[in-house]
Amino acid sequence: MKRIGVLAVQGAFIEHRQAFERAGCEVCEIRQRCDADQSFDAIVLPGGESTVQRKLLHELDILDPLWHQIDDGVQVFATCAGLILMAREVDGTPNPLGRVDVSVRRNAYGRQLGSFTTRGRFADKSDIAMTFIRAPKIVRTLGNVEILSTYDGYPTAVRQKHIVALAFHPELNLGETILPDLLDP
Ligand code: GLN
Repeated sequence: MKRIGVLAVQGAFIEHRQAFERAGCEVCEIRQRCDADQSFDAIVLPGGESTVQRKLLHELDILDPLWHQIDDGVQVFATCAGLILMAREVDGTPNPLGRVDVSVRRNAYGRQLGSFTTRGRFADKSDIAMTFIRAPKIVRTLGNVEILSTYDGYPTAVRQKHIVALAFHPELNLGETILPDLLDP
């Protein structure tokens, strides 16, 4: 059974927890430093508010152990605000936490009222629902990333080595249908 660590300081961590549990994983919430020292098969960075998450990661002293694991090659699954944390460039500014070679623009798919669901191809699957909530837009790729899905000509999900980052919220629609595939690429 895969052991998944879900960052649980802010945002949609409960929904991610439930989606990974439905997919048959053991899920541990990462809320404090000692949680981030545990060993995981994958780390989930959920949607939420990236500025708040970044601040809490520093304040709770979680950042170093968690990013150490990410740099050691533990698989990462980053959604929306998680994509923002993982992007090398955010709103035109370099992001020192970034590990994925993309440039994102925050809230580019509209604010709360601009949230929407569309359907499209995701990796080798067709007709997958994708829900965007104040989502960041991947405006450019900066390196060698694999594009897993697009919307309106822009990438909406990418994979770089062991990191998958998505602008939309897979935990809301895709649930068990793609999460296991992403965990076993
Ligand atoms: N707009 C949020 C941010 O900038 C991301 C939205 C989300 O995670 N649903 O962090």
